Amino acid sequence: RAKKLGKNNYQIYTKSMNIMTLKDYYIEKELRKALENHQLYMEYQPRIDVKAKQVIGAEALLRWKHPEWGDVSPADFIPLAEEEELINQISDWVLESVCSQIRKWMDDGLQFQFISVNISPKRLLKKDFYDFLVKTTTEKKIPPNLLEIEITESSLLIMDDYVQEQIIKIRDLGVRIALDDFGTSYTSINNIKNFPIDVLKIDKSFIQNIDKDHTDRIITQSLIQMAKGLNLRVVAEGVETQVQLNYLENYQCDEIQGFLYSPSVTDQKIEQLFVKRNMTPQQSEPLKTSE
Ligand code: C2E
Ligand code: MG
Ligand code: MG
Ligand code: MG
Repeated sequence: RAKKLGKNNYQIYTKSMNIMTLKDYYIEKELRKALENHQLYMEYQPRIDVKAKQVIGAEALLRWKHPEWGDVSPADFIPLAEEEELINQISDWVLESVCSQIRKWMDDGLQFQFISVNISPKRLLKKDFYDFLVKTTTEKKIPPNLLEIEITESSLLIMDDYVQEQIIKIRDLGVRIALDDFGTSYTSINNIKNFPIDVLKIDKSFIQNIDKDHTDRIITQSLIQMAKGLNLRVVAEGVETQVQLNYLENYQCDEIQGFLYSPSVTDQKIEQLFVKRNMTPQQSEPLKTSE
């Protein structure tokens, strides 16, 4: 590894000559150990059918409990991992652990429509992703339609013919494709026309202001209409208040995900929710942790 301390010791130069802060450097170093030392685990956030007010599936979200630092947010460590090969190892670990979990839930007779997994565009670009996906789902005997893969809208920016081809193959297996954080990147709407997806997830930045901001309301309403016109299932992320839910219900959004119903929870807790199915709003104030 061609890393060396900068002159003043505050900066680290990576192979690609990006500048990392010392803090980032240590996070990345610790993250490599975390994979081996079982500090990573998954939590699951319910996805709720707006009409039925029932949990129909969940998004798997990666968690890291560092022995000294405590919880480290994926928003902080995923981008660091993405600068290195490390993201590929992490992605595979996530996919394997989610498939094992799905297998266990199936054996226990739990009912749910899908579990969604975030996959970094960098992993999709590697030639062996498709084979790894087939191998993992086959080994764990997972019906591919129980799996949804979330890729961020920004992936469309690197979307070359190869990735597009891979996504078509993945979809042909029966795995659903969701476009995550929709509305946050400068991709052309025209892109989704040529891009095979099943689910559109509207980014929380729009949802969080629909009760206050007229423009965000119009954008959200239009995105829902567009998704429906294109026969996509549409999900609103980051729903925190009943007022936001009321708007989304009014615009006939299919699904919501957010602290209003539940933050991400442990595997045991989501099992209970899958059994109970019916969901009721928890509170009108955003929850800060999943503890
Ligand atoms: P994302 O895929 O868009 O996931 C949704 C994020 O919004 C999660 O943050 C979730 O906890 C948070 N969230 C859910 N409901 C609410 C709400 O009502 N209000 C607010 N303010 N936030 C809400 P989290 O878990 O911190 O993850 C952040 C991002 O890290 C994810 O965004 C995703 O891009 C990435 N990530 C998480 N797990 C994985 C993973 O296994 N693999 C990869 N490649 N990326 C992951
Ligand atoms: Mg996601
Ligand atoms: Mg998102
Ligand atoms: Mg995000």
